[in-house]
Amino acid sequence: MPHDARPAYEQGFARMVGAERGFAFWKGRVAMYAILRALGVGEGDEVILPGYTCVMDVNPVMYAGAKPVYVDIEPVTYNMNPDLLAAKITERTRVIVAQHTYGYLADMDRILELAAARSIPVVEDCCLSLGSLYRGRLAGTFGVAAYWSSQWNKPYTTGIGGMATTSDPDLAARLERVCSGDGLVEPGGKEVLMLRAQLAVYRTCVYPRTTALAQTLFRWLTRKGAVVGSSSTSEFSPEMAGDFFKRMSGMQARVGLRAVRRQEGAMQHRREMRRRYDELLQAIGWPVTDVPDHTDPVLVRYPVRVADKQRALAEAPRRFVELGSWFECPLHPIETPLEAYGYEPGMCPEAERASREVVNLPVHPRANAATARRTVDFIAGIGPAQG
Ligand SMILES: *Cc1c(COP(=O)(O)O)cnc(C)c1O
Repeated sequence: MPHDARPAYEQGFARMVGAERGFAFWKGRVAMYAILRALGVGEGDEVILPGYTCVMDVNPVMYAGAKPVYVDIEPVTYNMNPDLLAAKITERTRVIVAQHTYGYLADMDRILELAAARSIPVVEDCCLSLGSLYRGRLAGTFGVAAYWSSQWNKPYTTGIGGMATTSDPDLAARLERVCSGDGLVEPGGKEVLMLRAQLAVYRTCVYPRTTALAQTLFRWLTRKGAVVGSSSTSEFSPEMAGDFFKRMSGMQARVGLRAVRRQEGAMQHRREMRRRYDELLQAIGWPVTDVPDHTDPVLVRYPVRVADKQRALAEAPRRFVELGSWFECPLHPIETPLEAYGYEPGMCPEAERASREVVNLPVHPRANAATARRTVDFIAGIGPAQG
């Protein structure tokens, strides 16, 4: 057996994001579940989330026995609109989840102020915001805890993977208890082997021209149950699978540890790619998002609102353009049975509009200046959404 890389990865990751402690899990959603459990979320509680998220973020709330409550987003950063938050807080609110969408930070000053007035803990969803700043401070250092993902589409990948971080000693102790209970399972040898094989395929075959295709393929294989997918069909249901609450494997931790060492450069690349898109889009007169001065994002994907999202997504692969579709609906992906998650159409109109209009552009390490030019040329042919 090779040396267990998990403790080193947990420490290295925590240091990178400015937290005292890290807890590595099989996926980001598992890290979220662990945090909710450690915070004592249970039956009858309410957890507030933005209405522009993945269903995988809502599942842990339901697994904990709590009710998700959705707050609409504001249209510039795609994050929870703090003006609408106060009205959603009740006596039963146990946690507010501040998701930092695409890499733009939520308005933490106002969210924390509202939460503090009622002593409600704020948990940050940092799955898309590694390295992003808000008033010069790192994502993940605002709430009582944060969770992170290293799934295929995230800032870096360990195949799949997740992390919970906190600098609160009391919560860290409670997380330790949650993890040492008999509920937490070790990943099986076979699924780790499959994941390792997928990582190898990903590294050698997936480059910008084929990612959209590879993603489609992965998704299709996942539905067939043939890969260790980021989401299996059983996860489109608010019932927790027996092996959901799972640790990270040593293999993922070794990959993660290497990725952490390279993050400085990777984040620099993402910042540069964002500037490129800003410039190229401005040059063609595209309405470029004017992000608030106090946020300095490291984007995981670059969102744009297009006139015809369906056409854009259909034509992009033929032009070798890698467009992302998320979020496809308020609780991504489109297959989510919204009513089972307490989401009624019309609840979050801005989130629904963004779901209809937004596609996202690649800024990952394999994308470069040529990718940006080709992508913007393509987007120009589709045209911007009419505000
Ligand atoms: C990917 C993602 C998650 C879940 O991460 P997994 O590692 O896939 O479980 C949660 N929230 C957001 C915003 C995400 O993008």
